Amino acid sequence: MKIAELFASIQGEGRLAGVPSLFIRASGCNLRCAWCDTPYTSWRSEGEERTLDGIMEWVRGFPRFRHVVLTGGEPMIFPEIVSLSKELKQAGLHVTIETAATVFQPVACDLMSLSPKLANSTPDDPVWGPRHEQRRLQPEVLRRLTSEYDYQLKFVVQSPGDLAEIQAIQALCGASDEKILLMPEGIDGPTLEQRSAWLVELCKQHGYRFAPRLHILLYGQRRGV
Ligand code: SF4
Repeated sequence: MKIAELFASIQGEGRLAGVPSLFIRASGCNLRCAWCDTPYTSWRSEGEERTLDGIMEWVRGFPRFRHVVLTGGEPMIFPEIVSLSKELKQAGLHVTIETAATVFQPVACDLMSLSPKLANSTPDDPVWGPRHEQRRLQPEVLRRLTSEYDYQLKFVVQSPGDLAEIQAIQALCGASDEKILLMPEGIDGPTLEQRSAWLVELCKQHGYRFAPRLHILLYGQRRGV
C-alpha cells in the first residue's frame, strides 16, 4: 500500500476532534479537488510502498494510542485496506476511515468519516475537471456506507450557496441533522476565521455541527503532525 506518511497526533476534525490518534495516510486519490489540502497524495502522489506487517509494527510502537485513522488521499481505493482495517480492529483499536465516499469496500470500521465533495471542489483542469465532476458523487456508495456503518457527514464549505447541495446529500442518505458537520474551506488562519464567522451562524440556523480544523489552528500546513 502506498503510504505518504505515518504519524501520531490528535484528530483535528469531526466528532473525535482532540482525541490522540495514529494516522495512516495513503497516497493516491481518484479525485482532484481544486483546494486539496494534501496535494502530495493526489495531484502529485508521493510516498513509498509499505507492507501491512510494517504498518502494524509501527502502530504497535504507540501502545498508549487507542484510536487509528485511515486517511489519504483516498484510502478506499486500496484493496489492502480491508485486511489492514481488520488487523487494526483485532489489535483493539478504534478505527476511523476518512473517505470521500466514492468507493465501497467491506472494511472493519468504527466511524466512517464521509466527506462527499461538493461542486466547489471541481478543478478548472481540462483532464481532471470532467473526470472529477463525474466521480465526486456516488449515491449508491453513499447509501451503502451510511446504512452499514456508524458515520458522520463532513462537508468542506466555501460559501453559503453550498447549503442546497449539502441538504440534497443529507436527504439522499436520510441523515439526521446531528450527523452533519460543516467545516470552513481554507488552509490559513485568516481565511478560516472569516469563513467560520458566517458558517457558525448557518449551523445554528440548521441544527448542524460546526467543525473547526484544529490541526490547522495548532500546526498550520505542516506535514506529519
Ligand atoms: S478527495 Fe481528498 S485527497 Fe482527494 S483530491 Fe479531494 S481533498 Fe485531496
